[in-house]
Amino acid sequence: MTPTGRDAHPLSDRGAPVGPVDSQIVPRFAGFRTFARLPMLDALETADVAVLGAPYDGSTTFRPGARYGPQAIREASLLLRPYNEPLDVMPFEIAQVADAGDAPAGGALEQAHDAIFASAQALHARGISVFGLGGDHSVSLPLLRAAAARFGQLSLLQVDAHPDTWDSYFGAKVGHGTMFRRAVEEQLIEPNTSLQIGLRGPLYDRDDYPENRRLGFTAVLAREFAEIGIAGTLEIAARTLKPPIYLTFDIDGIDPAFAPGTGAPEAAGLTSREALGLLRAIAGQHEIVSADLVEIAPAYDPTGVTATTAAAVAFELVTMLAMASARR
Ligand code: MN
Ligand code: MN
Repeated sequence: MTPTGRDAHPLSDRGAPVGPVDSQIVPRFAGFRTFARLPMLDALETADVAVLGAPYDGSTTFRPGARYGPQAIREASLLLRPYNEPLDVMPFEIAQVADAGDAPAGGALEQAHDAIFASAQALHARGISVFGLGGDHSVSLPLLRAAAARFGQLSLLQVDAHPDTWDSYFGAKVGHGTMFRRAVEEQLIEPNTSLQIGLRGPLYDRDDYPENRRLGFTAVLAREFAEIGIAGTLEIAARTLKPPIYLTFDIDGIDPAFAPGTGAPEAAGLTSREALGLLRAIAGQHEIVSADLVEIAPAYDPTGVTATTAAAVAFELVTMLAMASARR
């Protein structure tokens, strides 16, 4: 193939994407745990989409433990199968998806965030779509810095019980309840084209939601979602979001009945059925350039249902990123 052809069809020169290990040949419970039993990025020349663990939970304000999120999601993802039936997409065939391992996110917050930024930036520099696995929600800040450096200012689509736009916590300006205000200040995200879904729970002050709105964010509160459903939310998304879109999914957006293993659980959230339905509806209307899934703290969940739910959410997010990458 000529160099011109190679540029035009980057996948064809690499051959067909390497998919998950075949569970008819090697059973799911055997072997090393990579996301969805996909190859490690190191074993490939390159990839279109890479899963990147960001195991940092040092900014947690209540229950810690999300540093064990990436491995719990990988473990639960062993049961994922290759076909996304509702979307009629084979995500691991239309794109090369790989597991890039974890960013070495040790030390204090700034050091951990720098390590996550460096790992994500190295992937973006190779043209790989990054799917981050947290970690507490503060890891979205270095992931957004790396994504914005490549794509420019982003619209944020956030599923979460909390707005995460407070100004500070115990005097700390960067943490898992404040990073989206910092992301606005750093001009990583454009709040006027950003949408938050699932907000609920007691607040600190009467002015918390109004202030979030004054920053520019549009929010569909959990109780509003219960009224307008996926279809109504999709209408709001259609008139709010503008590409490029970064999707951040805090597992506490889902009801603790389905996802109890998290740091700040809030009653009366989305069901897992609603959350997956919402993501599939979004997939049909919007292109996502990068994403993350955060706040899975497996220690609070002896049943493992949180990680099971998270793996299902991760499958939808990977499908979206694979679809976007296949269109490019
Ligand atoms: Mn939250
Ligand atoms: Mn959050």
